[in-house]
Amino acid sequence: MKERPIRIVSIYPTLLGTYGDGGNVAALSHIASLHGLAADILTISPGMVIPDDADIYVMGGGEDTAQVAAANALRASGALTRAVDKGASVLAICAGYQLLGHEFPDADGNAAPGLGLLDVFTDRLPKRAVGELAAEPIRAGLTSVTQMLTGYENHGGATHLGAGVTPLALVTSGVGNGDGTEGAITGRVIGTYLHGPCLVRNPLLAETLLGWAIGQHLDPIVEDAVEELRRERLGSATMSK
Ligand code: GLN
Repeated sequence: MKERPIRIVSIYPTLLGTYGDGGNVAALSHIASLHGLAADILTISPGMVIPDDADIYVMGGGEDTAQVAAANALRASGALTRAVDKGASVLAICAGYQLLGHEFPDADGNAAPGLGLLDVFTDRLPKRAVGELAAEPIRAGLTSVTQMLTGYENHGGATHLGAGVTPLALVTSGVGNGDGTEGAITGRVIGTYLHGPCLVRNPLLAETLLGWAIGQHLDPIVEDAVEELRRERLGSATMSK
């Protein structure tokens, strides 16, 4: 196993961090510790230099104007693109997902340029998507995630996938990308509409990211804990009837 701590970078949580998305970084750090792995977390505020040699980069969702500001700063920096070229993984939620693509709508509905790290582009949904989202993972891109993905979505964007990406999952409830698919993956770059926080509700995804960082598959620890919690809740629900 890797000797040095796993380096996790939280990108612009003050701009991109709606609906508890900051919990993704906490989940990575917690799950790493359950595996006996040390993790260093670096939180990047606008104006700070983003390192290009970390293992995992995490971005949350945000309002349209904050999203444009984050995209412009990231494009000017170039660090995320360099990091991905070096093999880093990225988990980006909602606005973060959209800005990884070629373009996305700004607050006036005009196309704003993204980073082009995912072969997707985003325009407007006919009606804003708000509510619970559940989707069945597609094994092509993320072989280790076998459980239904769940989360909360709140976005006006419809994301269209190009040939260079695979959807993460097929929507069973909710909207996701808007065409029956949810999220996108290419290599180790993952975009998704799942707030939740995503990695708390879908810990197998966290274990995938950590496994990539150490270059070794991690046998899921958290799955048991989640199962236990579900049984506990079911038990108390039955008792309170
Ligand atoms: N501003 C984007 C949209 O509405 C992203 C929203 C979000 O991140 N929750 O599509």
